[in-house]
Amino acid sequence: MESGQTDISSMALRSTIVARFGLDVPLSLQPPRDCECGCSINLPLGIGHTPEERVVMVGAEREWLRHRFTCPKASGLRTAVHDQVARIWVALLTAAGFKDVTYEDRRWDAAAGSDEAKHRRPDIVAFNPVTQQRWVIDVSLAWAPAAEGAKASLAARNRERYKVSSYREGMGRRVREAEAGGAQVPEGWVEDVFVPLGYEVEGAWGPSATWAFEEVVGVKAATVCADLTDWSKINFGEHWKRAIAVALANGQAAVISRSAKPDELAAARDSTELSQESNPDSGH
Ligand SMILES: [Zn+2]
Repeated sequence: MESGQTDISSMALRSTIVARFGLDVPLSLQPPRDCECGCSINLPLGIGHTPEERVVMVGAEREWLRHRFTCPKASGLRTAVHDQVARIWVALLTAAGFKDVTYEDRRWDAAAGSDEAKHRRPDIVAFNPVTQQRWVIDVSLAWAPAAEGAKASLAARNRERYKVSSYREGMGRRVREAEAGGAQVPEGWVEDVFVPLGYEVEGAWGPSATWAFEEVVGVKAATVCADLTDWSKINFGEHWKRAIAVALANGQAAVISRSAKPDELAAARDSTELSQESNPDSGH
């Protein structure tokens, strides 16, 4: 992989450290005082001379740094980060030997008909050749922690739980469709399982995402050619964990800094995929 795909940018490194350790926001990281959405940083005028006032200012700066995590004008950038993580999973599942890996399968849940509110479109559908289950996968990013000081993975877990409930009806429709012989299933198919992948943009993984990743590495280990002696489970896992971590770190930095347009993120994503194909660790 080229640098830029495996390395986090210096901007991403600085903003991650500032957020993680609750540091003062350095001048070079401070976003413009006014956002294009009409919001601006909420700072009382003429303060900053006493220690107490400094605390108020630093808190406001830190909060403002995260404004773009909820800003309506940044939704395109946030979606691009989500799509990038989903595309990394497509490459990971393919490299691990999953079959029929389909990104954004529009025909899934066609039984919901024209009711858009009910209709679900999973990010990825893929067949697990070891358990013979078809995974219905949805990636979900949490842009804000569950609460100040909450355990790091709590918001990611909440995203996963939300996805499980929002897919319950659609999964039920698929089961009935399969029982009626209406749904196409791969040979040896046992069942469909819903697999939510929840991430916090500051790096924490939800329990389902952690479980799924270990399963995928296990599938690769179970199906890898016995004569491919240079394959290492640890290297394979580390390679893909790093790819996801880098996408999240660079993505949140791009959203904060407005440094990238959605199509620039997409271009970075495409070159990531190309370089993964030529990487021996990715299993080709
Ligand atoms: Zn805004």
